[in-house]
Amino acid sequence: MSRINSAGPRPGDVLSHAEMCMVEGKMLQQGMNFGAGKGYSIVLMSQRKGAPYPDRLAADGTALLYVGHDAYGHPHKGTVDQPLATLFGTLTQNGLFFQAAESYRQSGIPHLVRVYEKIRAGVWVFNGLFELTDASMESDGKRRVCVFELRITSRSFDDATLPTQPQPSRLIPSEVKVKVFRRDHGKCRRCGATTDLHFDHILPYSKGGSSTNPDNIQLLCQRHNLEKRDRIE
Ligand SMILES: [Zn+2]
Repeated sequence: MSRINSAGPRPGDVLSHAEMCMVEGKMLQQGMNFGAGKGYSIVLMSQRKGAPYPDRLAADGTALLYVGHDAYGHPHKGTVDQPLATLFGTLTQNGLFFQAAESYRQSGIPHLVRVYEKIRAGVWVFNGLFELTDASMESDGKRRVCVFELRITSRSFDDATLPTQPQPSRLIPSEVKVKVFRRDHGKCRRCGATTDLHFDHILPYSKGGSSTNPDNIQLLCQRHNLEKRDRIE
């Protein structure tokens, strides 16, 4: 935990579920957690095998398209539209994120979202800080689902309540992270450490390195990642 300083996790950091909850100061179980952080929401992504309509990356690699949640406890939840409100008229998590996207359209001030992604059992990656820039309902063939556009933020924040780190300019796709973690056996490539790991671009994106080719991504522990970064900068 020592690596996660007051500025919060860095995009690409690998965390256990317990570490993620410690970083955010709360138990995280649901995928969508509107307003759960200080000045931001928290979204958990995971590889849902066989999902007809999975979360995906926008073609340019700068945004995530996150699918909303099904009606809780509904017996045929895969066939009914994803709800924006409950039977009692209160907004669901879908509804709250929808409202925030609507407010962005009017005010130009985006709602901020931290995204964590589960790449295998017990292994989570911090994907970074995003702006909620759009929300829509789309058909998945059987029913209508909510799709939220989360764009990597390029703003810098002065707000002390919102610790943040430099954001990546391009996201590493889920399947690339899964492949790299497996190939590197969940260990730092330099020293074999299995804790404080980070997904590292061998050639940085800013220098023309790919985010989508597993050959350009490796697992490094924090020490070796920072050593390397200091050499490059
Ligand atoms: Zn190492």
